Amino acid sequence: MPSAADTAADQKAIAADPAMVSLYEAHQKIYPRSVSGLFSHWRWAFVWLTQLVFYGLPWLDWGQRQAVLFDLGARRFYIFNLVLYPQDFIYLTGILVISALSLFLFTAVAGRLWCGYACPQTVYTEIFLWIEKKFEGDRSARMRRDNGPFSLDKFVRKGGKHLAWLAVALWTGFTFVGYFTPITQLGSELIQLRMGSWEVFWTGFYGFATYGNAGFMREQVCKHMCPYARFQSAMFDHDTLIVTYDQQRGEPRGARSRKADPTQLNLGACVDCTLCVQVCPTGIDIRNGLQYECIGCGACADVCNTVMDKMGYARGLVKYSTQNAVQQNWSGPEILRHVLRPRVLLYSAILLAVVVAMLVSLVLRSPFKVDVVRDRGTLARIVSGGNIENVFRLQVMNATESDQVYRMSVSGLEGLALASDAQFNVDSTQSRWIAVRVQLPYEAARPGSHPIQFEIMQQGNDKHVSEKSVFLVPR
Ligand code: SF4
Ligand code: SF4
Repeated sequence: MPSAADTAADQKAIAADPAMVSLYEAHQKIYPRSVSGLFSHWRWAFVWLTQLVFYGLPWLDWGQRQAVLFDLGARRFYIFNLVLYPQDFIYLTGILVISALSLFLFTAVAGRLWCGYACPQTVYTEIFLWIEKKFEGDRSARMRRDNGPFSLDKFVRKGGKHLAWLAVALWTGFTFVGYFTPITQLGSELIQLRMGSWEVFWTGFYGFATYGNAGFMREQVCKHMCPYARFQSAMFDHDTLIVTYDQQRGEPRGARSRKADPTQLNLGACVDCTLCVQVCPTGIDIRNGLQYECIGCGACADVCNTVMDKMGYARGLVKYSTQNAVQQNWSGPEILRHVLRPRVLLYSAILLAVVVAMLVSLVLRSPFKVDVVRDRGTLARIVSGGNIENVFRLQVMNATESDQVYRMSVSGLEGLALASDAQFNVDSTQSRWIAVRVQLPYEAARPGSHPIQFEIMQQGNDKHVSEKSVFLVPR
């Protein structure tokens, strides 16, 4: 990576010799102008929604515990009424499959909806930009101050902005850790300055990542670090809704007075005000067509609509549309008909099937789990009374949040019986190992291994679990 000094030297050499071309593009800071309009309102609605959920959820109680808590130490995930164990890993896989399919579906329908409205990078950049605007003013004031000399005003405004950014970033890190350690406990540890080293590390790490990504990296994350930006084009086709510039209507572009008739001047609707470029958080010009840097936020569409309103032209020079619709002048209902194409219907059907399968499996999920393990130390033995005895170890996991009593029985061979207690209890959300002795009258079965079955029933309801094992009869 070239150093700043190398880059400056290269730029000087290039300026001196017009025949030279730099292969390294120096980073130009982007100063997005603020904008108001339909899509900006949607963006802020998503900022509120996602952040109310993110910051609020850890403070929500559910009975005696936090409603959503991923207790890695105890290997329990609590999600409202649900308690998930490592054995429930399949549900995590299901959630990942649903997320991936949703992303495919939304991208096929409307491009980078996720990027433009709900991605944490977009959301935190929006919040940090808002703070920046409060301290430093809008685009032109910020540019002027950055290019101006050092002053007390500059120091105070920039210092205040960074302090506010740090406060938001650290609170974000604290909230993130609050999903893994009960947040009220974490809060009291913080007040007493006795947070654990891992908690301090993750609060700092997540906070620092938020501060760096939303305060400084911004569009660089979308352009150079996010893999989704690279493979999204594979999910686009000519019927995907994207932010587009209507070239036929806009060109030839050019400045003109509000009263002038563009047809007499041989001009299109674009007044070449460049506001669409100034509001763009990634600094691109939508008039150059679809570019991978475009996160589909709609800011350029909002600002262009205000320009069209001022000029007295029809809105929608920059709008959400499809490449086919722009080329063939389709109406709204025609666009919608083409959006519902086989690929979209297929993604929707698969997504629906996975969601239904996961919900059904969650509803039918047993409130307890049983594992049967043969005791390796005692394969089979003859005990007093002339019986053959096998010893098993049962692990019973109570997935409910109340103490439970269970009864077990064993079957599979004539005369097979339990020689240990048939009833036992397991505390809420705990698992317990139980030694089980099973006996069979001598000569009731041929030597060898015989399949048997344990039946475990939860007292107070009809929930039961069957587990297979084998009973060994020695020669
Ligand atoms: S905001 Fe609209 S009118 Fe202004 S330059 Fe962009 S496309 Fe043209
Ligand atoms: S081109 Fe328009 S939609 Fe795309 S990122 Fe820039 S402002 Fe957002």
